[in-house]
Amino acid sequence: MEARHLLLAFILLTHCLTTVMWWVAGSWLGLSRKAARHWLLASVANGLALALPVLPEVGTADQRIALAGSLVVLGAVSLRRGLQFFLKIRLTDVAHTILVVGVTLFNLVVCLREGWHATGVIVSSLAMTWALGRTARETFTPLRTEFNAVTAWMHAGMLSIAVIVFGLVALTYTAPGVHWPWMRWSTEAAQFAMVFSSVAMSILASFVLGYIVVMRLVRRLEHLSHHDALTGLLNRRAIEYLLDREDQRLQRFGDPYTVLLVDIDHFKRINDRLGHAAGDAVLCAVSRTLQAQAREVDRVARYGGEEFCILLPHTLHDGAMQAAERLREAVCLINIPWGDEHISVSISTGLACAGEPGETLQALLKRADEALYQAKAEGRNRVVMAADRPIHSRQA
Ligand code: GH3
Ligand code: MG
Ligand code: MG
Repeated sequence: MEARHLLLAFILLTHCLTTVMWWVAGSWLGLSRKAARHWLLASVANGLALALPVLPEVGTADQRIALAGSLVVLGAVSLRRGLQFFLKIRLTDVAHTILVVGVTLFNLVVCLREGWHATGVIVSSLAMTWALGRTARETFTPLRTEFNAVTAWMHAGMLSIAVIVFGLVALTYTAPGVHWPWMRWSTEAAQFAMVFSSVAMSILASFVLGYIVVMRLVRRLEHLSHHDALTGLLNRRAIEYLLDREDQRLQRFGDPYTVLLVDIDHFKRINDRLGHAAGDAVLCAVSRTLQAQAREVDRVARYGGEEFCILLPHTLHDGAMQAAERLREAVCLINIPWGDEHISVSISTGLACAGEPGETLQALLKRADEALYQAKAEGRNRVVMAADRPIHSRQA
């Protein structure tokens, strides 16, 4: 078997693998469908572009180079359009069409007829460099915002390496008389080195893109596992974790905190009279109000159906009572237009302060729950602070 057959098998194997990877990601797993389809196309175009120069049986050398140049540009444009879908940035289809159609026409009509294959390679390389350069520029900030600076730089680095690798390939083809360092090798060795680095580049691109797709998936799963789907607040699991950490700080360093258990009054009546959708709208409005009124360091969570749990770090008695009253008053001002009427609601709050180590978290929550129960029993729309005993009440 000749070395070029091995090379061809290597190109086909790697590009089939990346193509199948994007097909599985987009079609089976439903991950960033549109982006995955574009990256699949980029993988096919790059694979073919790399395989063409290794296939002496297909057409003339000029034809193969012309077609490979157009395929490389198609690959760069597909990669960019996929990223535009993935990051929800403006699609630049006019530029893409001009680039692909223009380079293809130039390569197939002008270069082939006139035998200007070196010019064709330069034009294709410049078009690809332009497309990848624009990609690096327009994706840097969105990637840094959604993920982090490392990811943004990694992606920009990958695009720069792609430009350098394809630039070297272009130089080798366009300046056969020049003795570039790698030209001292045998033709086959030089070709092998170029194709090998291009394939490595293609795999690196798929790896970086795969990494950002998986990273987004992990972030979304993390968000889903910690947040309530309806209100967007933290869910019970998340607040229990935070309460546990706050409790450990209290036990270890004596850092105090307060827990508020908040329950919407007569919520069932809203559901029964106006329907479940109205109930959901009330839950969202109350959630927004609680979140807006809480301090940045406070943590607001949906604890159950129409029940919320709020953690106030470094806050005790008077401060906590003021915060709870502020929340209660803000919720009373909620006014939701619903059909012909306006929905108003109130909340009852049980407040328990954890000022001294020694008490378990369960006992603290039980005190807050008992205070909430008392607030309901005393007529609702009020805050009750649990004390050692007796429980102090503060009427609305
Ligand atoms: P109280 O003043 O004593 O708290 O009375 P209440 O009607 O608010 O309390 P109750 O526990 O009787 O009713 C709570 C209702 O909340 C019952 C349940 O159907 C409703 N609920 C729970 N989760 C949701 C939800 O996600 N959306 C809607 N619309 N309703 C919900
Ligand atoms: Mg209720
Ligand atoms: Mg309830």
